[in-house]
Amino acid sequence: MNRPYNFSAGPAAIPEEVLREAASEMLDWHGSGMGVMEMSHRGKEFISIYERAEADLRELLAVPANYRILFMQGGGLGENAIVPLNLSRGGRIDVVVTGSWSQKSQKEARKYGNVHIAASNEADGHTTLPAPSGWQLSADASYVHACTNETINGIEFHELPDLKRLGSNAPLAIDFSSHVASRPVDWSRVGLAFGGAQKNLGPAGLTLVVVRDDLLGHALPACPSAFDYRIVAEHDSMYNTPPTWGIYIAGLTFQWLKRQTENGLTGVAAMEQSNIAKAKLLYDFIDGSQLYVNKVAQDCRSRMNVPFFLRDESRNDAFLAGAKATGLLQLKGHKSVGGMRASIYNAMPLAGVQALVGYMREFERTQA
Ligand SMILES: *Cc1c(COP(=O)(O)O)cnc(C)c1O
Repeated sequence: MNRPYNFSAGPAAIPEEVLREAASEMLDWHGSGMGVMEMSHRGKEFISIYERAEADLRELLAVPANYRILFMQGGGLGENAIVPLNLSRGGRIDVVVTGSWSQKSQKEARKYGNVHIAASNEADGHTTLPAPSGWQLSADASYVHACTNETINGIEFHELPDLKRLGSNAPLAIDFSSHVASRPVDWSRVGLAFGGAQKNLGPAGLTLVVVRDDLLGHALPACPSAFDYRIVAEHDSMYNTPPTWGIYIAGLTFQWLKRQTENGLTGVAAMEQSNIAKAKLLYDFIDGSQLYVNKVAQDCRSRMNVPFFLRDESRNDAFLAGAKATGLLQLKGHKSVGGMRASIYNAMPLAGVQALVGYMREFERTQA
């Protein structure tokens, strides 16, 4: 039986191989007599799952030795508070506003520091990326926040800003929730990265944080111990019970990622090639059509989240109903933007995007 193609923005599709592997191990993980959800997080079985997941992710994302990988809880929105609690020292925080998620981040950060909006694309309805050369960075910021893939608006940074070259000594903190592991990360430009797992790594409930050593140990006194990066790092993410199931599924996803090959590349580099091809297919079709439109500037269109509109919005419900009947699920746009959105994360195969484009072409033809 073929499963439908699921274009959900998150929680999102998980690679079928991973789901099947997890299903086969549900009742008995590797002869232990226990399912992963039933294991002590301090037992040797789970420790081996955790250690492999950490090592595989470090390899996949080429995380340097002076960065810690933390498996936490609280989601992306939790990190909007946890990051300033750990990094702000009560001082100035520069935020680059590029869409709904960075907007939420700056609002939350105001509780813990003095937020300065270094740049914003609000005036053009979040459809462009403010050029880093024009950012108004503070001389004394504790960190600079950016959301490197705006899931709702469909905007992605295709190059990370080099803050040093822009005259700032502050570390860059990125929310990479919705494009983590879809492309390599230039860690020389990043002090901290966080992301919820439910877009591109696994189930909801796991939050990934990658943080440079020198940023540990500066938490405000009010920071809960379970969210103090130094404490979490010192306990190898086991200060309190970690989201064991999430770590396990993410671990299987990392192994799946390591098996990917494309154009002689492997892992995340291979995944990136496939993501570029998927996004190009969909954007080229939208741009060439009379019915569909994407409003985001070409140079910052997201490879992961493709919002689009029907020029005749009275056809929206018919479009969605026909898509569902064709086995193309969860294409409705976010309520704040409207229209449609196709999220084409790592787990979406090229065949899924081909099926979507085929349906869109046929729908347009029957409307003419
Ligand atoms: C989904 C998402 C979040 C929110 O994550 P939660 O787990 O719901 O807190 C934050 N930032 C980005 C970019 C997202 O895509």
